[in-house]
Amino acid sequence: MQELSIFVGGAWRRGNGDAMQSTFPADGSLNATLNAASIDDLNDAVKSAERAWRDPAWRNALPHQRAKVLHKVADIIESRVDELALMQSRDNGKPLPEARGLVLSAAGTARYFAAACELLEGELPTPRMAEVLTLSRYEPLGVVAAITPWNSPIASEMQKVAPAIAAGNAVILKPAEATPLMALELARIFEQAGLPAGLLSVLPGKGSVIGDALARHPLIRKISFTGGTTTGRHLAHVAAEKLIPASLELGGKSPTIVLEDADIEQAARGICYGIFSSAGQACIAGSRLFIHESVYQPLMARLLELTRGLRVGHPHQEGTHIGPLINEKHRKSVMDYVALAQKEGGRVLCGGEIPADPALASGSYFQPTIIDGLNYQARVCQEEIFGPVLVAMPFADEESLISEANASVYGLAAGIWTRDTGRALRLSERLEAGTVWINTYKVFAISTPFGGFKESGLGREKGIQGLKAWMQQKSIYLATGNSVNRWCD
Ligand code: NAD
Repeated sequence: MQELSIFVGGAWRRGNGDAMQSTFPADGSLNATLNAASIDDLNDAVKSAERAWRDPAWRNALPHQRAKVLHKVADIIESRVDELALMQSRDNGKPLPEARGLVLSAAGTARYFAAACELLEGELPTPRMAEVLTLSRYEPLGVVAAITPWNSPIASEMQKVAPAIAAGNAVILKPAEATPLMALELARIFEQAGLPAGLLSVLPGKGSVIGDALARHPLIRKISFTGGTTTGRHLAHVAAEKLIPASLELGGKSPTIVLEDADIEQAARGICYGIFSSAGQACIAGSRLFIHESVYQPLMARLLELTRGLRVGHPHQEGTHIGPLINEKHRKSVMDYVALAQKEGGRVLCGGEIPADPALASGSYFQPTIIDGLNYQARVCQEEIFGPVLVAMPFADEESLISEANASVYGLAAGIWTRDTGRALRLSERLEAGTVWINTYKVFAISTPFGGFKESGLGREKGIQGLKAWMQQKSIYLATGNSVNRWCD
């Protein structure tokens, strides 16, 4: 157990806010105590950030010089994979193999944006006027805010910090209350990699206090948020008041669809992973399952068999598929949804309970749960549960499928399982979702933009676009002739 400092303007110090702690969801043991950032800490961080990004030594640094820091960050992360995975797992209870995957993806993200910032080019639009040359260049925004959730901290934090730094900004990162460990360690890694002081500060604390004050700070020029839709909507209002951009990665209720000709084994395995990995605590979790009625029986039989075989257990035990939920309050909310499903007429086909194993009694574990017998309009088919709960529904024809799959305020992701790729592509165009996976699920490439339709978000992260999203475009007109303006003759 350690006492953590917070990282403000390049210096480690005790936070001036309330006491808080990080606990291990597997057994409630304490990882670390710390004091949250206060408003004074925030003001110091922003002041130092403002100085740092305007400093000509950084502002005029060539892309390869900024890239060097990000490559070094990736090197450090890659040299400490197991240790960082353990830290991530202690913070939010993820099984170690999943945590390792996130750590490696964070290193890949740093490398991708290092390369992207070297490759980023301004534009030379073809002039539509005589005797003028126009240039369009990308410039940093200034001091930017990154606010992140607890479910995949190292990945979601790197997805914001790496492009923001590559673009030449200074970043203030506010991690989730439950998971301060990783963000503070990332600050240490960026510091070791040679990032000049002030360009990254990490301010743990309550969202409604420090997160809100960060977003409202007059010098913050962009809010990049990942988290729940209610918080995202609030931050969109704050951004609108200040007339600054907000990028919002929000909740989801993603449909996965099994067509008549799907490979049943491939689909059942993909669906199982898509909903139950990370104990369902994933924005993209495939939580609504639509199965063509002709394959409903075989698909469900195999899916139930696979699900009953999943091992719920300690996240550090080899072979564990499903670790604990983040905390008791969240488990209670997941259990309430299962009870609601039953009240709405649903049948719990497997799971639905706290595991009986006494070894798991001190963590917030919950069994993977499959429910059927509900209509797509039921509340459990409409609201994000963010836990290991899947609702299965048969469908008879493509038109009703499309209207039911799209009948959601969310539009984050979707999955299609079929051997007919042409049909899958046609269907993917009709699904209201920012990402559609065909015969796979929950796979990611950092080069491919990610974001939500409808109430699942605004803007895109990842890809070259994900770098430009942290920049503003400036157009420059340069006269190439000698003509004199005659207007005042
Ligand atoms: P949350 O919205 O409660 O919190 C997210 C972050 O916002 C935390 O750091 C929190 O402290 C902060 N926050 C809370 N209130 C705030 C306020 N008033 N002002 C400023 N900041 C505030 O979400 P959560 O419970 O941490 O995460 C779960 C949610 O995140 C789910 O809805 C999930 O779908 C979503 N999520 C989305 C993505 C995506 O990429 N679309 C990825 C992961 C998680």
